[in-house]
Amino acid sequence: MQDRHAVIIGGGIIGLAIAFELAQMGGWQVAVVERHRVGAGTTAKATGGIRTQFSTEANVQLALLGRERFAHWQDIYGGDPRFQRIGYLFFSARADQAEVLRRGAERQRRWGVDVSVVEPAEMAGLVPHMTTEDLAVGTFTESDGLGDPGAAAAALESACRRAGVAIHEGEDVRAIELNGAGEAVGVGTASGRRLFGEVVVVATGAWTAPLMEPLGFLAPIAPHRRQVYRTGPVAEWPPVIPLAVDLDTGLYCHSDGAAVVFGGGDRHVAPGFDEVPQPADVVRLADPLMHRWPLLQAAPIVQTWAGLREMTPDDHGLVGPVPGHPGLFIAAGFSGHGFMQAPAVGLVMAALIAGAAPPVDMAALDPGRFQGQARAKEEQYVF
Ligand SMILES: Cc1cc2nc3c(=O)[nH]c(=O)nc-3n(C[C@H](O)[C@H](O)[C@H](O)COP(=O)(O)OP(=O)(O)OC[C@H]3O[C@@H](n4cnc5c(N)ncnc54)[C@H](O)[C@@H]3O)c2cc1C
Repeated sequence: MQDRHAVIIGGGIIGLAIAFELAQMGGWQVAVVERHRVGAGTTAKATGGIRTQFSTEANVQLALLGRERFAHWQDIYGGDPRFQRIGYLFFSARADQAEVLRRGAERQRRWGVDVSVVEPAEMAGLVPHMTTEDLAVGTFTESDGLGDPGAAAAALESACRRAGVAIHEGEDVRAIELNGAGEAVGVGTASGRRLFGEVVVVATGAWTAPLMEPLGFLAPIAPHRRQVYRTGPVAEWPPVIPLAVDLDTGLYCHSDGAAVVFGGGDRHVAPGFDEVPQPADVVRLADPLMHRWPLLQAAPIVQTWAGLREMTPDDHGLVGPVPGHPGLFIAAGFSGHGFMQAPAVGLVMAALIAGAAPPVDMAALDPGRFQGQARAKEEQYVF
């Protein structure tokens, strides 16, 4: 039987993971078309958090499968994504939010997450030098942690090339081409190139909505700027702490050797494509940051970067076939957790494209769910 052709638009961690799995299955000629350099989009800006604490079962199952594959990365893809199980701690000082955390932990345990509820004294042990007296409760997952998105994307790119994937960089896809029956037949790029594929996968992250608009398909993925700061060395700061998230302010931080990386607290930022770092914005975070981590008062900030999280109205990705267009698939809008879910999304998408049952039930991430009324948000961990 002749090979089938798949064109994947977008060479971020998601597009690369899908390309690898498809190429591994055999019977597919796979091409990735990337307008810049692979891995240089939102993936390059990610913190690298890998967590299994989520408010919905679909996200938990994707995260569990993703984490499992990060743990066995070298055997599966080769290379090293530098996954460290430093743990993940969510906490709150508010009684109502504490209840959300307790209920969340109960649900997560039913879904297979090894999460424990921790009291302030225990949190003080987990994150030395953090102000914990005013906290109500926290939830902690010891097996979660942090990976290196740049290293992971580079390893996946190499894995794709070894598996025979053709990678076209510097090619900006301007149109998804359909035949008269509305089936996907390929893509056209700004340079006038046309790539044929009976399967086309849209993995364009924060830049997805404008690409889908001409097809009349609503992909409500808003580019949402997140800025991250790295300090210089901070005396007495422990070299390893769990990735700690303050649910009341949205602030998060983790160690980076003797330095500290922090960010978040930005849900109010209006959507837009501006990624230019604004180091002075750190003043907005100063009070909550100094309150929670007083040691940071004297810390110089040596690096600031910004990237675009790809937010959907319900904070879930759009994963699967695009209704009305046979052969057209989407995997985008992971709402700030696409790095950790990418290895699972690769498997899920390869199964869906091959017409097989995916390893995780994807009903909650159905791409067609926004064509009518957008669903209300679930009880979320918002940061
Ligand atoms: C500051 C920050 C921190 C984050 N922290 C975490 C974290 O801790 N954990 C986590 O899991 N996630 C995190 N994320 C989210 C994570 O980075 C994303 O969910 C993930 O990288 C999405 O991958 P992607 O492949 O869908 O998108 P991208 O990496 O953006 O890839 C999409 C690619 O498509 C290309 N493209 C777009 N349009 C076209 C076109 N028309 N033609 C050709 N190519 C096109 C782009 O150039 C880009 O390379 C964070 C994001 C930010 C900004």
